[in-house]
Amino acid sequence: MTPGVTIWRCVSCRAGYFPERLLCPRCHGAKFEPDRVHEAVVEEASVIRHMLGQENWQPHRIASVRTSDGQRLTVGLRDDAKPGATIELFEEDAAPFGKAKSL
Ligand SMILES: [Zn+2]
Repeated sequence: MTPGVTIWRCVSCRAGYFPERLLCPRCHGAKFEPDRVHEAVVEEASVIRHMLGQENWQPHRIASVRTSDGQRLTVGLRDDAKPGATIELFEEDAAPFGKAKSL
């Protein structure tokens, strides 16, 4: 498990994006560098109960979150974090996940 998830930061104006853009909508720059963001707030959570073609599918939760840097992304949830909750972001097998921040 790797802490944080990858976003792309415009080299000229430092705006962060996810997924990567071809051109920065803010300054039209075309150069990005990877950066990591570690925290997000849950905006919406749902449960995937079935997956077509998967017989041994275990229901799992996903959430639409907004990172502390402003990007919106979808992550797998490792606990029952509710909308409004602040979660810690991490990556496992290159997929983004989140779990409630331990206070
Ligand atoms: Zn830019």
